[in-house]
Order: sequence, then C-alpha cells, then structure tokens
Amino acid sequence: MSLEQKIEEALSVLRRASQDFDPTVMASSLGAEDMVLTDLIWKNDLPVEIFTLDTGRLPEATHRLLSLVHDHYGKAIRVYFPKSEDVEQVVSQYGINGFYHHMEGRKACCRARKVAVLQRALQSRRAWITGLRREQSPTRQSVQTVSWDEEHGLVKLSPLAEWTRDDVWEYLRLYNVPYNALHDQGYTSIGCAPCTRAVREGEDERAGRWWWEHPESRECGLHLTKESA
Ligand code: SF4
Repeated sequence: MSLEQKIEEALSVLRRASQDFDPTVMASSLGAEDMVLTDLIWKNDLPVEIFTLDTGRLPEATHRLLSLVHDHYGKAIRVYFPKSEDVEQVVSQYGINGFYHHMEGRKACCRARKVAVLQRALQSRRAWITGLRREQSPTRQSVQTVSWDEEHGLVKLSPLAEWTRDDVWEYLRLYNVPYNALHDQGYTSIGCAPCTRAVREGEDERAGRWWWEHPESRECGLHLTKESA
C-alpha cells in the first residue's frame, strides 16, 4: 500500500472516530507518530482534542517541541499534570530515582505520573486515539486499528497500526511537520528523560525505554494488553 493510501485510510479512521464517538480525544506523547496524527487532525479541522501528559520528568527537548507545535499550528496541545500528592508519595516511598532499583518502584512512578493522569484525561470520553504501531516492539505486535479498551472503558483507535517507521518519517518530511530534536540523536521512542536512551544498531524501536528491564515489561501501563500486562 502506498503512503498516499495509508494517509487516506488513517484520515478515514480519524473522521469516523470524530463523528461516531464524539467526544474523541488524542493522547500525544509528542513522538514522531503522534506528530503525524496531530498534523492530520489539525490540518483537516477534525473536532478532536489533543492532549499530552507532562510527568514532571520530560526532556527539555520535549518541552521545546510543545512550544514549537504551538507556534507552527497556532494552537496548543492540552497538558495534564500528575497530582502532587501522588508524586510525593512515590518519591517518599522509593526515592527520587527509585525506578532504577525496583520494578515495583518503576511501576508506581509510571502509575502516579502517567496512568492516573491518563485516567483523568479520558473521563467522559467515548474514544481515544493513539499513535501505536505494530512494528514498534514485541509488546505492540497485536495492536488493532480499532479495539475496545477494557481498562478505560472506551474505544481505542490506532490509525497508524500498519504504518512502518519509514512511512512516519516520509510523512513528517513531506509535510514539514515539527518533531522532537532527540529523534536526530538516535532516540526512536521518547518518554521521561531518566528512563529513555538512544537505541543501538539492530535494537527494536522501544529498546531505549526502561532499557535495564526485560523487553516484555517495557510498557508504562498506558497501553497494556493481555499479552503485555
Ligand atoms: S518513565 Fe520513568 S520517570 Fe517517567 S513515570 Fe515512568 S518510571 Fe517515572
């Protein structure tokens, strides 16, 4: 399938979602895939709110991109922050960088800074859109374009499920879409600064996330499936 056909299919999923499941939101991590979707949604004036989660540990480059996106499109991505008491509880129990030392501490940190915040952002919505692709990692091979998200109780749409990494980058270059400068330094997937590194030759795209853990556990809890839970 050509890139043009993939773009048309993704647009058709986005259009149907905004009509059939109003209100639909898009959760953006500000990664390359999410910039493709942001461009498709805003250039086509689709009634979909785009939001991101600021965990309090994001790289400076991600904040720069957030500002750049505002300048480029003349509108802002909504930013949700974690509740201070949730973060304080995790830090007092596991330490400021406790995620490196205990799996339990890592999960608790992701829960407080991401999962609980996502649950708040998805309240009263009928569908959410993500930039997940099957090709990204072992934990994402069963991603469906449209599925029922049992965990959050709403429809989940991944219009780029079948896109390759090359498709994403061809789109970004073709349409001059802003992207995170860390991608030019070997970062294929970008999350919190202390839990993300550049990937090495031959590694999967999400190998730089929680690199000290087993590949099967490298999800923060936002996109758990029966296989990866
Ligand atoms: S990715 Fe790291 S810093 Fe970010 S929420 Fe998860 S454990 Fe905490």
